[in-house]
Amino acid sequence: MASLVCATCRKLIPPGTNAIRCTVASCNTGRMKLRFCSVTCWEKHVPTARHRKASYVVEGEAG
Ligand SMILES: [Zn+2]
Ligand SMILES: [Zn+2]
Repeated sequence: MASLVCATCRKLIPPGTNAIRCTVASCNTGRMKLRFCSVTCWEKHVPTARHRKASYVVEGEAG
C-alpha cells in the first residue's frame, strides 16, 4: 500500500486517515491523483489549479 502525501503541504496522510480528494477530473487522471490532508489544504489547491467549479470528497481508508 503506497502512503499518501498531501499535495499542498507534503504532509504524510497515514493509512486509516481520511483524505480529501479533488473531484475535478484533471486532478484524477493518470498518475496525478491528488490527495489532501485537510479541506484547508484543498482550498489552497483550488486557486493554484484554476478550477472554476471545484468540490471535494472525503475518502476513507477503511475497507
Ligand atoms: Zn496538507
Ligand atoms: Zn483539483
